[in-house]
Amino acid sequence: MNELLKFDEKLFKNQKRKAQEFEEIAIEIRRDIIKMLFQAKSGHSGGPLGIADIFAVLFFGAYMNYKAEEPSWKERDRFILSSGHYCPVLYSALARAGFYPVEEMATLRKFGSRLQGHPGRDMGLPGIEASTGSLGQGISIAVGMAISDKYLDKNEQKVFCLTGDGELQEGSCWEAAMAASNYKLDNLCWIVDNNDCQIDGRVQDVMNIYPLDEKFKSFGFNVIVCDGHNFEDIISAFEQFSNNSKKKIGKPCVIIAETKMGRAVSFMEDKHQWHGNPPNEEQALIALKELK
Ligand SMILES: [Mg+2]
Repeated sequence: MNELLKFDEKLFKNQKRKAQEFEEIAIEIRRDIIKMLFQAKSGHSGGPLGIADIFAVLFFGAYMNYKAEEPSWKERDRFILSSGHYCPVLYSALARAGFYPVEEMATLRKFGSRLQGHPGRDMGLPGIEASTGSLGQGISIAVGMAISDKYLDKNEQKVFCLTGDGELQEGSCWEAAMAASNYKLDNLCWIVDNNDCQIDGRVQDVMNIYPLDEKFKSFGFNVIVCDGHNFEDIISAFEQFSNNSKKKIGKPCVIIAETKMGRAVSFMEDKHQWHGNPPNEEQALIALKELK
């Protein structure tokens, strides 16, 4: 196999960083996504590439408390990938944080691998908090965890959850939104990947969900809209959530991240056709050349 398609060993710490320091991490994550998908010969390219900048800040900017060497640490914050098909981006972040060996990324979607095409808690990969992929379900799991943290355990832990925008066409998302607001879940940070793409085309053409900010506001959320490819903006969004959560404002938070599907790979960017396709070798090598 071409040397360029192998994984390097770099790990990143979860620490406060300046905006420009996230660039290198986001590139590494995107390179991992391309390499994993090429090796798997199946899987989703567009969504994971589009949300890589958000993952770089969330996992490596000290906004989420975790211990990679102790994944079940009782005081950890939790991350739920409601859009389970985005898993290459999560697998990369977990590997780069040290939850499991970097070279295991090469087993994505292979028989017996801990890295299945949607995250399975039963596969035993450290850092996976819930089995997800049935769209609209993960956010309800996250709401349940946040209720338990706030009212039963009465701790200061936070729950982060990512959904797609097309995923919001699932009615269960809005039941989760109602519950989050009803229970004043200021420990919940819901991130929406607002790329206006889903498998069949533009979200607004398939089933219009907009205007999202007004919908979430009417559901009682503190709404933060950010440019999901601008690190200053992403940092500011997570800072606002952290501060509001500390202040216990009594409202759940949604970060609506304006992104482009397939971001940073020229032939994939903003193309819904890359929702569920992997690159072939030639395409992977072009993508890796661009991701430097
Ligand atoms: Mg989408």
